[in-house]
Amino acid sequence: MSSLSDFLKLVIHRRFASKSAIESYQRNELKRLIDHSKQHSLFYKQTLGDIEIDQLSDLKKLPIINKTIMMDNFDQLNTVSLTKDEILAVALEKELNKDYLGYYKDEFVIGLSSGTSGNKGLYITPKALTKRLPFVFLARSGIPLRYLPFRILFMLRVFSQGFNDINSPFISLNYLSTMTEVDEIIRQINQRKINILMAPPSLCRLLIPAAHLIHKPLRMIVTYAEVLEKEEKTRLSEVFGCRVIEIYQGSEGQFASACSMGNLHINEDLIIIELLDEHYNEITTPHIAASHMIVTNLVNVAQPLIRYEMNDLIVLDKPCSCGSNFRTIEKILGRNDDILYFKKKDGMIQHIFPDLFSRWIITSSENIREYKVIQHLDHSLTILLDPITSREKDDLIRLVESRLRLELSAFDIECRMDIRCETIALPLNRSKFKRFEVDKEIAKN
Ligand SMILES: [Zn+2]
Repeated sequence: MSSLSDFLKLVIHRRFASKSAIESYQRNELKRLIDHSKQHSLFYKQTLGDIEIDQLSDLKKLPIINKTIMMDNFDQLNTVSLTKDEILAVALEKELNKDYLGYYKDEFVIGLSSGTSGNKGLYITPKALTKRLPFVFLARSGIPLRYLPFRILFMLRVFSQGFNDINSPFISLNYLSTMTEVDEIIRQINQRKINILMAPPSLCRLLIPAAHLIHKPLRMIVTYAEVLEKEEKTRLSEVFGCRVIEIYQGSEGQFASACSMGNLHINEDLIIIELLDEHYNEITTPHIAASHMIVTNLVNVAQPLIRYEMNDLIVLDKPCSCGSNFRTIEKILGRNDDILYFKKKDGMIQHIFPDLFSRWIITSSENIREYKVIQHLDHSLTILLDPITSREKDDLIRLVESRLRLELSAFDIECRMDIRCETIALPLNRSKFKRFEVDKEIAKN
Protein backbone atom coordinates (compact mmCIF):
# COMPACT_ATOMS: atom_id res chain seq x y z
CA MET A 1 0.00 0.00 0.00
CA SER A 2 2.80 2.35 0.75
CA SER A 3 3.84 2.10 -2.86
CA LEU A 4 0.42 3.26 -3.98
CA SER A 5 0.43 6.24 -1.67
CA ASP A 6 3.94 7.10 -2.77
CA PHE A 7 2.73 6.83 -6.33
CA LEU A 8 -0.27 9.07 -5.74
CA LYS A 9 1.89 11.62 -3.98
CA LEU A 10 4.06 11.81 -7.04
CA VAL A 11 1.16 11.94 -9.48
CA ILE A 12 -0.17 14.92 -7.63
CA HIS A 13 3.37 16.13 -7.27
CA ARG A 14 4.34 19.58 -6.27
CA ARG A 15 2.87 21.85 -8.85
CA PHE A 16 5.23 24.64 -9.64
CA ALA A 17 3.07 27.61 -10.44
CA SER A 18 5.74 29.56 -12.25
CA LYS A 19 9.30 29.58 -13.50
CA SER A 20 10.35 31.57 -10.46
CA ALA A 21 8.80 28.98 -8.14
CA ILE A 22 10.95 26.34 -9.84
CA GLU A 23 14.01 28.55 -9.55
CA SER A 24 13.57 29.24 -5.88
CA TYR A 25 13.02 25.53 -5.21
CA GLN A 26 16.17 24.71 -7.17
CA ARG A 27 18.17 27.38 -5.35
CA ASN A 28 17.23 25.95 -1.96
CA GLU A 29 17.97 22.39 -3.02
CA LEU A 30 21.25 23.46 -4.57
CA LYS A 31 22.27 25.29 -1.41
CA ARG A 32 21.58 22.16 0.58
CA LEU A 33 23.48 19.96 -1.84
CA ILE A 34 26.48 22.27 -1.81
CA ASP A 35 26.56 22.58 1.96
CA HIS A 36 26.42 18.82 2.29
CA SER A 37 29.06 18.28 -0.37
CA LYS A 38 31.48 20.79 1.13
CA GLN A 39 31.09 19.14 4.51
CA HIS A 40 31.46 15.54 3.41
CA SER A 41 33.51 15.65 0.23
CA LEU A 42 37.12 16.74 0.25
CA PHE A 43 36.98 17.29 -3.50
CA TYR A 44 34.11 19.77 -3.27
CA LYS A 45 35.51 21.40 -0.17
CA GLN A 46 38.55 22.26 -2.23
CA THR A 47 36.95 23.06 -5.58
CA LEU A 48 33.88 24.96 -4.40
CA GLY A 49 35.81 27.02 -1.87
CA ASP A 50 33.94 30.04 -0.56
CA ILE A 51 31.41 30.37 -3.36
CA GLU A 52 28.00 31.05 -1.84
CA ILE A 53 24.69 30.32 -3.52
CA ASP A 54 22.45 33.34 -2.97
CA GLN A 55 20.60 33.00 -6.21
CA LEU A 56 20.33 30.24 -8.73
CA SER A 57 22.58 32.02 -11.21
CA ASP A 58 25.44 31.65 -8.72
CA LEU A 59 25.57 28.08 -9.97
CA LYS A 60 27.46 29.47 -12.97
CA LYS A 61 30.37 30.43 -10.73
CA LEU A 62 31.02 26.79 -9.91
CA PRO A 63 33.57 24.82 -11.93
CA ILE A 64 32.38 22.36 -14.57
CA ILE A 65 33.53 18.78 -14.13
CA ASN A 66 33.28 15.74 -16.37
CA LYS A 67 33.60 11.98 -16.16
CA THR A 68 37.40 12.02 -16.26
CA ILE A 69 37.60 14.52 -13.39
CA MET A 70 34.93 12.63 -11.46
CA MET A 71 36.74 9.31 -11.86
CA ASP A 72 40.18 10.78 -11.13
CA ASN A 73 38.84 12.18 -7.86
CA PHE A 74 36.39 9.41 -7.09
CA ASP A 75 37.53 8.68 -3.53
CA GLN A 76 37.52 12.32 -2.43
CA LEU A 77 34.38 13.23 -4.36
CA ASN A 78 31.88 10.79 -2.90
CA THR A 79 30.48 11.55 0.54
CA VAL A 80 30.11 7.97 1.74
CA SER A 81 33.78 6.98 2.03
CA LEU A 82 33.83 4.50 -0.82
CA THR A 83 36.98 4.03 -2.86
CA LYS A 84 37.19 3.57 -6.61
CA ASP A 85 39.22 0.36 -6.32
CA GLU A 86 36.75 -1.20 -3.95
CA ILE A 87 33.69 -0.23 -6.00
CA LEU A 88 35.21 -1.12 -9.33
CA ALA A 89 36.13 -4.56 -8.04
CA VAL A 90 32.58 -5.08 -6.80
CA ALA A 91 31.06 -3.85 -10.05
CA LEU A 92 33.31 -5.98 -12.23
CA GLU A 93 32.69 -9.07 -10.17
CA LYS A 94 28.95 -8.57 -10.42
CA GLU A 95 29.31 -8.10 -14.15
CA LEU A 96 31.39 -11.26 -14.45
CA ASN A 97 29.03 -13.37 -12.37
CA LYS A 98 25.96 -11.84 -14.01
CA ASP A 99 24.90 -11.14 -10.46
CA TYR A 100 22.96 -7.95 -10.34
CA LEU A 101 21.15 -8.64 -7.11
CA GLY A 102 21.64 -6.98 -3.84
CA TYR A 103 22.92 -3.73 -2.47
CA TYR A 104 26.53 -3.08 -1.74
CA LYS A 105 26.93 -3.03 2.03
CA ASP A 106 23.13 -3.14 2.10
CA GLU A 107 23.18 0.57 1.36
CA PHE A 108 24.14 1.36 -2.20
CA VAL A 109 23.48 0.41 -5.78
CA ILE A 110 26.64 0.49 -7.83
CA GLY A 111 26.33 1.43 -11.48
CA LEU A 112 29.05 0.87 -14.01
CA SER A 113 28.93 2.59 -17.35
CA SER A 114 31.37 1.93 -20.10
CA GLY A 115 31.54 5.17 -21.97
CA THR A 116 32.14 5.08 -25.67
CA SER A 117 35.52 6.64 -25.12
CA GLY A 118 36.43 3.49 -23.25
CA ASN A 119 36.69 5.00 -19.80
CA LYS A 120 34.45 3.48 -17.23
CA GLY A 121 32.17 5.56 -15.07
CA LEU A 122 31.17 4.44 -11.59
CA TYR A 123 28.00 5.68 -9.99
CA ILE A 124 26.74 5.28 -6.44
CA THR A 125 23.03 5.55 -5.70
CA PRO A 126 21.74 5.22 -2.13
CA LYS A 127 19.23 2.43 -1.56
CA ALA A 128 16.43 4.74 -0.44
CA LEU A 129 16.70 6.82 -3.59
CA THR A 130 16.70 3.75 -5.83
CA LYS A 131 13.51 2.51 -4.23
CA ARG A 132 11.80 5.76 -4.93
CA LEU A 133 12.81 6.12 -8.54
CA PRO A 134 10.43 3.65 -10.19
CA PHE A 135 7.60 5.74 -8.78
CA VAL A 136 9.02 8.88 -10.23
CA PHE A 137 9.04 7.20 -13.64
CA LEU A 138 5.57 5.83 -13.23
CA ALA A 139 3.95 8.84 -11.71
CA ARG A 140 5.31 11.31 -14.21
CA SER A 141 4.76 9.04 -17.17
CA GLY A 142 1.14 10.08 -17.19
CA ILE A 143 -0.12 6.52 -16.76
CA PRO A 144 -3.85 6.97 -16.10
CA LEU A 145 -5.14 5.56 -12.83
CA ARG A 146 -7.81 3.68 -14.74
CA TYR A 147 -5.06 1.24 -15.72
CA LEU A 148 -4.86 0.11 -12.10
CA PRO A 149 -3.78 -2.42 -11.06
CA PHE A 150 -0.50 -1.75 -12.78
CA ARG A 151 1.21 -4.99 -13.67
CA ILE A 152 4.53 -3.84 -14.91
CA LEU A 153 7.30 -5.73 -16.55
CA PHE A 154 10.48 -3.75 -16.19
CA MET A 155 13.20 -4.95 -18.54
CA LEU A 156 16.49 -3.97 -16.99
CA ARG A 157 19.96 -4.13 -18.35
CA VAL A 158 21.60 -3.40 -15.07
CA PHE A 159 19.64 -4.69 -12.19
CA SER A 160 19.05 -2.73 -9.05
CA GLN A 161 17.26 -4.24 -6.13
CA GLY A 162 14.85 -1.36 -5.69
CA PHE A 163 12.98 -2.33 -8.80
CA ASN A 164 12.22 -5.80 -7.59
CA ASP A 165 10.74 -5.00 -4.24
CA ILE A 166 7.29 -3.98 -5.25
CA ASN A 167 4.34 -6.25 -5.06
CA SER A 168 1.20 -4.63 -3.78
CA PRO A 169 -2.43 -5.20 -4.80
CA PHE A 170 -2.33 -2.11 -6.97
CA ILE A 171 1.16 -2.19 -8.34
CA SER A 172 3.29 -5.16 -9.16
CA LEU A 173 6.65 -4.61 -10.68
CA ASN A 174 8.41 -7.59 -12.15
CA TYR A 175 11.98 -7.47 -13.23
CA LEU A 176 13.38 -9.33 -16.19
CA SER A 177 16.82 -9.02 -17.66
CA THR A 178 17.03 -7.57 -21.17
CA MET A 179 19.03 -10.67 -22.06
CA THR A 180 15.99 -12.91 -21.63
CA GLU A 181 14.92 -14.85 -24.74
CA VAL A 182 12.00 -13.37 -26.66
CA ASP A 183 9.81 -16.48 -26.09
CA GLU A 184 10.34 -16.23 -22.37
CA ILE A 185 9.54 -12.52 -22.30
CA ILE A 186 6.27 -13.16 -24.14
CA ARG A 187 5.49 -16.04 -21.78
CA GLN A 188 6.03 -13.79 -18.76
CA ILE A 189 3.90 -11.01 -20.25
CA ASN A 190 1.03 -13.47 -20.78
CA GLN A 191 1.39 -15.31 -17.50
CA ARG A 192 1.63 -12.21 -15.35
CA LYS A 193 -1.01 -10.37 -17.37
CA ILE A 194 1.39 -7.50 -17.83
CA ASN A 195 -0.29 -4.26 -18.92
CA ILE A 196 2.71 -1.95 -18.82
CA LEU A 197 6.04 -2.79 -20.40
CA MET A 198 9.07 -0.72 -19.52
CA ALA A 199 12.00 -1.51 -21.78
CA PRO A 200 14.70 0.03 -23.95
CA PRO A 201 13.59 0.66 -27.57
CA SER A 202 16.07 -1.92 -28.85
CA LEU A 203 14.29 -4.57 -26.80
CA CYS A 204 10.85 -3.45 -27.96
CA ARG A 205 12.07 -3.82 -31.52
CA LEU A 206 13.22 -7.32 -30.70
CA LEU A 207 9.64 -8.16 -29.66
CA ILE A 208 8.03 -6.83 -32.85
CA PRO A 209 7.95 -10.15 -34.75
CA ALA A 210 6.34 -11.80 -31.68
CA ALA A 211 3.87 -9.03 -30.88
CA HIS A 212 0.90 -11.07 -32.12
CA LEU A 213 1.63 -13.71 -29.45
CA ILE A 214 0.72 -11.34 -26.63
CA HIS A 215 -2.74 -12.42 -25.43
CA LYS A 216 -4.02 -9.27 -23.82
CA PRO A 217 -2.88 -6.06 -25.47
CA LEU A 218 -0.51 -3.91 -23.47
CA ARG A 219 -1.85 -0.61 -22.18
CA MET A 220 1.38 1.23 -22.43
CA ILE A 221 5.03 0.89 -23.32
CA VAL A 222 7.51 3.08 -21.49
CA THR A 223 10.92 3.19 -23.11
CA TYR A 224 14.15 4.35 -21.57
CA ALA A 225 17.95 4.14 -21.84
CA GLU A 226 18.12 4.76 -25.59
CA VAL A 227 16.82 7.45 -27.88
CA LEU A 228 13.33 6.75 -29.15
CA GLU A 229 12.88 8.18 -32.63
CA LYS A 230 9.51 9.73 -33.44
CA GLU A 231 8.88 7.34 -36.32
CA GLU A 232 9.78 4.46 -34.10
CA LYS A 233 7.37 5.57 -31.44
CA THR A 234 4.56 5.58 -34.00
CA ARG A 235 5.56 2.18 -35.28
CA LEU A 236 5.78 0.53 -31.85
CA SER A 237 2.44 2.07 -30.99
CA GLU A 238 0.89 0.53 -34.11
CA VAL A 239 2.49 -2.87 -33.67
CA PHE A 240 1.62 -3.25 -29.99
CA GLY A 241 -1.63 -1.30 -30.14
CA CYS A 242 -0.89 0.94 -27.18
CA ARG A 243 0.55 4.25 -26.15
CA VAL A 244 4.32 4.55 -26.22
CA ILE A 245 6.08 7.09 -24.05
CA GLU A 246 9.65 7.51 -22.92
CA ILE A 247 11.64 8.48 -19.90
CA TYR A 248 15.10 9.91 -20.13
CA GLN A 249 17.51 8.86 -17.44
CA GLY A 250 21.06 7.74 -17.00
CA SER A 251 23.54 6.80 -14.31
CA GLU A 252 23.95 10.53 -13.68
CA GLY A 253 20.34 11.17 -12.84
CA GLN A 254 16.71 11.18 -13.86
CA PHE A 255 16.63 13.81 -16.55
CA ALA A 256 13.11 13.79 -17.90
CA SER A 257 9.78 12.00 -17.84
CA ALA A 258 6.90 12.06 -20.30
CA CYS A 259 3.72 13.85 -19.25
CA SER A 260 0.15 12.84 -19.98
CA MET A 261 0.47 14.50 -23.39
CA GLY A 262 3.41 12.25 -24.14
CA ASN A 263 5.97 15.07 -24.12
CA LEU A 264 9.26 14.82 -22.28
CA HIS A 265 9.62 17.29 -19.40
CA ILE A 266 12.87 17.89 -17.57
CA ASN A 267 12.52 16.75 -13.94
CA GLU A 268 13.42 20.24 -12.73
CA ASP A 269 12.89 19.26 -9.09
CA LEU A 270 15.38 16.40 -9.30
CA ILE A 271 18.06 17.83 -11.54
CA ILE A 272 19.27 21.16 -12.86
CA ILE A 273 20.09 20.95 -16.55
CA GLU A 274 22.06 23.79 -18.13
CA LEU A 275 22.15 23.90 -21.90
CA LEU A 276 25.00 25.99 -23.22
CA ASP A 277 26.13 27.03 -26.68
CA GLU A 278 29.71 26.77 -27.92
CA HIS A 279 30.61 29.97 -26.02
CA TYR A 280 29.05 28.63 -22.81
CA ASN A 281 26.09 31.01 -23.02
CA GLU A 282 22.80 29.62 -21.79
CA ILE A 283 20.33 28.47 -24.43
CA THR A 284 16.74 29.19 -23.46
CA THR A 285 14.96 29.16 -26.81
CA PRO A 286 13.42 26.04 -28.29
CA HIS A 287 14.71 24.15 -31.33
CA ILE A 288 18.38 25.07 -30.89
CA ALA A 289 20.94 22.31 -30.43
CA ALA A 290 23.18 22.85 -27.41
CA SER A 291 26.92 22.32 -27.49
CA HIS A 292 27.16 21.48 -23.81
CA MET A 293 24.78 19.85 -21.42
CA ILE A 294 25.70 20.36 -17.78
CA VAL A 295 23.77 18.60 -15.04
CA THR A 296 23.54 19.04 -11.29
CA ASN A 297 21.82 16.14 -9.58
CA LEU A 298 19.82 17.58 -6.68
CA VAL A 299 18.82 14.30 -5.05
CA ASN A 300 21.87 12.06 -4.99
CA VAL A 301 24.10 13.31 -2.18
CA ALA A 302 26.14 10.11 -1.94
CA GLN A 303 28.05 11.00 -5.08
CA PRO A 304 27.30 14.66 -5.70
CA LEU A 305 27.43 15.57 -9.37
CA ILE A 306 27.62 19.34 -9.44
CA ARG A 307 27.92 20.95 -12.87
CA TYR A 308 28.79 17.66 -14.48
CA GLU A 309 29.17 17.76 -18.26
CA MET A 310 27.27 15.05 -20.03
CA ASN A 311 28.03 13.49 -23.35
CA ASP A 312 24.39 13.86 -24.40
CA LEU A 313 22.96 16.78 -26.28
CA ILE A 314 19.32 17.79 -26.20
CA VAL A 315 17.08 20.32 -27.90
CA LEU A 316 14.38 22.20 -26.00
CA ASP A 317 10.80 22.38 -27.21
CA LYS A 318 8.13 25.03 -26.82
CA PRO A 319 6.08 24.96 -23.59
CA CYS A 320 3.71 22.02 -23.33
CA SER A 321 -0.05 22.41 -23.31
CA CYS A 322 -0.32 20.09 -20.29
CA GLY A 323 0.34 23.13 -18.13
CA SER A 324 3.57 21.98 -16.48
CA ASN A 325 6.21 24.66 -16.14
CA PHE A 326 8.98 22.11 -16.42
CA ARG A 327 10.91 22.67 -19.66
CA THR A 328 10.17 20.26 -22.48
CA ILE A 329 12.63 18.37 -24.65
CA GLU A 330 12.03 18.29 -28.38
CA LYS A 331 14.63 15.64 -28.99
CA ILE A 332 17.66 13.96 -27.60
CA LEU A 333 20.40 14.15 -30.17
CA GLY A 334 22.26 11.25 -28.69
CA ARG A 335 25.75 10.98 -27.52
CA ASN A 336 28.17 13.61 -28.65
CA ASP A 337 30.47 10.92 -29.95
CA ASP A 338 27.77 9.37 -32.14
CA ILE A 339 27.91 12.29 -34.55
CA LEU A 340 28.84 11.31 -38.09
CA TYR A 341 31.39 13.34 -40.02
CA PHE A 342 31.49 13.52 -43.80
CA LYS A 343 33.73 15.17 -46.32
CA LYS A 344 31.84 17.40 -48.72
CA LYS A 345 32.85 17.73 -52.35
CA ASP A 346 34.57 21.04 -51.57
CA GLY A 347 36.64 19.31 -48.90
CA MET A 348 34.80 20.86 -45.94
CA ILE A 349 33.66 18.62 -43.10
CA GLN A 350 29.93 18.27 -42.52
CA HIS A 351 28.61 16.71 -39.35
CA ILE A 352 25.28 14.91 -39.23
CA PHE A 353 23.48 14.11 -36.02
CA PRO A 354 22.54 10.48 -35.52
CA ASP A 355 18.84 11.28 -35.09
CA LEU A 356 18.66 12.65 -38.61
CA PHE A 357 20.62 9.78 -40.08
CA SER A 358 18.40 7.34 -38.17
CA ARG A 359 15.31 8.91 -39.61
CA TRP A 360 16.59 8.44 -43.15
CA ILE A 361 17.11 4.75 -42.52
CA ILE A 362 13.94 4.06 -40.56
CA THR A 363 11.72 5.78 -43.08
CA SER A 364 13.25 3.98 -46.05
CA SER A 365 11.30 0.82 -45.36
CA GLU A 366 8.84 -0.74 -42.91
CA ASN A 367 10.90 -3.89 -42.98
CA ILE A 368 13.80 -2.77 -40.78
CA ARG A 369 13.71 -4.28 -37.31
CA GLU A 370 17.13 -3.10 -36.24
CA TYR A 371 20.14 -1.46 -37.81
CA LYS A 372 23.63 -0.39 -37.03
CA VAL A 373 25.81 2.29 -38.57
CA ILE A 374 29.59 2.09 -38.43
CA GLN A 375 31.67 4.96 -39.72
CA HIS A 376 35.31 4.31 -40.49
CA LEU A 377 38.23 6.67 -40.37
CA ASP A 378 38.07 7.31 -44.14
CA HIS A 379 34.45 8.49 -43.59
CA SER A 380 33.03 5.44 -45.37
CA LEU A 381 30.07 3.63 -43.85
CA THR A 382 29.17 0.07 -43.06
CA ILE A 383 25.44 -0.26 -42.45
CA LEU A 384 23.89 -3.43 -41.11
CA LEU A 385 20.18 -3.99 -41.55
CA ASP A 386 18.22 -6.63 -39.70
CA PRO A 387 14.94 -7.05 -41.58
CA ILE A 388 11.67 -8.26 -40.07
CA THR A 389 11.08 -10.60 -42.98
CA SER A 390 13.98 -11.99 -44.94
CA ARG A 391 12.20 -11.71 -48.27
CA GLU A 392 13.45 -9.14 -50.73
CA LYS A 393 16.67 -8.36 -48.93
CA ASP A 394 18.24 -6.95 -52.07
CA ASP A 395 15.34 -4.57 -52.51
CA LEU A 396 15.72 -3.39 -48.94
CA ILE A 397 19.41 -2.72 -49.38
CA ARG A 398 18.71 -0.83 -52.60
CA LEU A 399 15.98 1.24 -50.97
CA VAL A 400 18.16 2.27 -48.05
CA GLU A 401 21.15 3.00 -50.21
CA SER A 402 19.29 5.19 -52.68
CA ARG A 403 17.60 7.07 -49.84
CA LEU A 404 20.90 7.73 -48.06
CA ARG A 405 22.59 8.83 -51.27
CA LEU A 406 19.75 11.20 -52.00
CA GLU A 407 19.79 12.76 -48.52
CA LEU A 408 23.57 13.03 -48.40
CA SER A 409 23.74 14.60 -51.84
CA ALA A 410 21.64 17.48 -50.48
CA PHE A 411 24.65 18.21 -48.26
CA ASP A 412 26.97 17.78 -51.20
CA ILE A 413 28.29 14.56 -49.74
CA GLU A 414 29.25 11.46 -51.64
CA CYS A 415 30.39 8.58 -49.55
CA ARG A 416 31.31 4.95 -49.88
CA MET A 417 28.87 2.68 -48.17
CA ASP A 418 28.61 -1.03 -47.69
CA ILE A 419 25.09 -2.07 -46.73
CA ARG A 420 24.39 -5.63 -45.64
CA CYS A 421 21.52 -7.57 -44.16
CA GLU A 422 22.33 -9.59 -41.08
CA THR A 423 20.96 -10.51 -37.69
CA ILE A 424 21.79 -7.93 -35.04
CA ALA A 425 21.77 -9.21 -31.48
CA LEU A 426 21.77 -7.13 -28.32
CA PRO A 427 25.22 -6.84 -26.73
CA LEU A 428 26.02 -9.79 -24.50
CA ASN A 429 27.82 -7.72 -21.91
CA ARG A 430 24.58 -5.88 -21.12
CA SER A 431 25.99 -2.59 -22.22
CA LYS A 432 23.77 -0.10 -23.94
CA PHE A 433 22.96 -1.08 -27.50
CA LYS A 434 24.89 1.27 -29.73
CA ARG A 435 23.45 1.91 -33.15
CA PHE A 436 26.22 4.25 -34.14
CA GLU A 437 29.87 3.45 -33.95
CA VAL A 438 31.99 6.28 -35.20
CA ASP A 439 35.74 5.92 -35.40
CA LYS A 440 37.05 7.99 -32.49
CA GLU A 441 39.76 9.62 -34.58
CA ILE A 442 37.28 11.08 -37.07
CA ALA A 443 36.10 13.92 -34.88
CA LYS A 444 39.69 15.00 -34.28
CA ASN A 445 40.51 15.32 -37.98
ZN1 LIG B 1 3.46 18.21 -20.85
